[in-house]
Parts: sequence; C-alpha cells; structure tokens
Amino acid sequence: MGLGLIVFRLLYFSGPFASPDPEAVAAVVDMHCHTAGIGAGGSGCFATEELTSSYKFRYYLEGFGVKLSELEAQGDALIVRRIAEGVRTSREVDAAIVLAMDGVIDDQGQLDRAATQIYVPNRFVRQETEKHPELFYGASVNPKRTNAVELLERAHADGAKLIKWLPAVQQFDPGDRSWLPFYRKLAELDLPLLVHVGKERALAHARDEFSDPKKLALALETGVTVIAAHLGSTGSHENQRDFDRLKDMMERYPNLYGDISSLTQVNKLGYLKEALTHEGFRDRLLYGSDFPLINTPLVSPWFFPLNLEWHRMKEIGELENPWDRDFVLKRDLGVPSEVFDRPGQLLMQPEDFAFLEP
Ligand SMILES: [Zn+2]
Repeated sequence: MGLGLIVFRLLYFSGPFASPDPEAVAAVVDMHCHTAGIGAGGSGCFATEELTSSYKFRYYLEGFGVKLSELEAQGDALIVRRIAEGVRTSREVDAAIVLAMDGVIDDQGQLDRAATQIYVPNRFVRQETEKHPELFYGASVNPKRTNAVELLERAHADGAKLIKWLPAVQQFDPGDRSWLPFYRKLAELDLPLLVHVGKERALAHARDEFSDPKKLALALETGVTVIAAHLGSTGSHENQRDFDRLKDMMERYPNLYGDISSLTQVNKLGYLKEALTHEGFRDRLLYGSDFPLINTPLVSPWFFPLNLEWHRMKEIGELENPWDRDFVLKRDLGVPSEVFDRPGQLLMQPEDFAFLEP
C-alpha cells in the first residue's frame, strides 16, 4: 500500500500549479477574514443553537484559537484580539479585513432574529478592528434593511473597506431590481461588494438559488466592484459550474474580481489550479484566507502530494502561524505575487499601511 502510493506519486507528481513566484510582495492583506461570537461582553453577536451545538462550531472555535469558557469570561472581542495577534506575528501577512455578518431581514425591514443563523454586527467589528492597526473593517449590510442605503454611507464614513454579503444565508436575491439604489450608492462610494457565490456549506442551511453568479450582473452593470468569494467553487446552476459562469462573466465585466480564499480546502482541490491557469482570471484574483477555516482540518499541505515536495509539505505543516501556513502553501502552489499584492491595491489607501513603517 505504502509502496504503491510512492510509485503513484513518482509517476504523477506534477509540481506546483504555476511556477512559484519569488517576487517580493509590498504588503499582503488578507481580504477575507471572519470573526464570530456568542454575545459575550455585549458584542451583539449571536449564532443559533443549531450551529453552536454542531461539530462545526467546535472546529471554528479551535480555528479561532479560543475556548468557549474564555469567550464567556473575556467577551467576543477576544477573537478579534487573537486575529490581531496572529496577523501581527505573521511573517508573511501584514493586515486583514475582518468581516461583519448581517442577518436575515424580515418584510418590515428589520432583523429577523429567529431566522438568522449567525450575526456579527457592524458596530462590533468596527469598534474592535479600530483597536488594532493591522485590522480593517469589512461591513455587512443586508439590502432589505429599511435604512440599507444610509447604513452604506455610515459604513463608508466609518472606514469600511468593503461590504460583505452571504445571500444564500441572509436570504435575498442579489438580482432583485429593488436593490438598484443600494447598488448605485455602492458605486458612488466606490465601496466594493464581496459576495459569496457557489455552494455554501459552512453553516447549517443555505438557499443556493441566491448564490448564482449570474445574479451579480445587476450590480456589475450598475458599476459596482464585485468580488466573487471563493470564485464560486463547488456550486453549479442550470447544469453549469458557477466557476465557469464566472469565467464567462470576467470577460464581460472588468469590474468583477474573485478571491482565492478557501481554495486549498480538501473539498475544493483542483479549483486553485484552474484559477491560476485560466487566462481570464489573470489580473482579477485577490488573496484571502477565509480564516478560521484555514486553521481547521479542512486545510493541510498534505493534501498536495502531487504538487509539493515531501519536505515542503512537512515544513509548511509545521508553521505555527495560520496566516504563514496559508500564504506559504498558496505561494508554493504557484499563486503569483500580484495576487497577494492586489487586495492592498484595490481595497486600501497608502496611509492604511503607515503602521508598517519601522
Ligand atoms: Zn468566508
């Protein structure tokens, strides 16, 4: 069995997906980093019992590097502090955009607490990221909120780097024309929209019909910079992979981008190679980690025996810092330096990096 594996590997070892790019990167920003909470310390965060009692929640807490008892004692801000420590001590990643998560909004335009699986309020993420120079604020506004457009203005004024959507879980259709004023405001404020497309399996339930990349056409045509999270990996609509739908759309919309977060997960092997080798994705890919998922058993360098040398899989696996592990794994698999540079160029201002100066 062991010998068979070694022979198989000798025969099929193909090396990195693209030749590793040793070019130095100016500043690496992880533009897709999650936080969460249980409401401890008055954070306003919550997650449903169904989620908090599932095995996934245990993995997420471990990934965040916290225990439930610590959260209860020290408050949900502890998770953001741990993220800041991780990013600060990372040798490769300089900064992270931490994402809020709006909930389900009812027909009166108010938060539907009972239908919301996970909620991470803007106020919490803004307040906590402000305390750490390496962390930046990613707001989340469900467009069904009565004051959605005003909330965009507020997020922008508060320094939000982008607006995060998870329509399949927040339960709205991104293609609905009622969101035109919302899209116009995003375009006016030059506030990018990070949208989950493709299958959503990180939470308990999802309505996949809202994850169709084609539903982003309205935002794109209104001039919004749209970032398709995870490049729509693992989803499909009308018998076409969402990934291929995005390929077609990239040609049509120069304001469409995709992030490579989660593409090293065990359930997505193959997508990173396609992303790096497809000509149409050139100049459109952004580095993101999808922390804490990169710090769970879903991701390991050992999933790439045909692309990485044994000693590299071992060395990467031994890196303590989750961001270092994520960066080095992706770089060794062939992610070019421009992909690591791009979030800083597209989403940040030069003064955001003032803290990096010695
Ligand atoms: Zn994510």
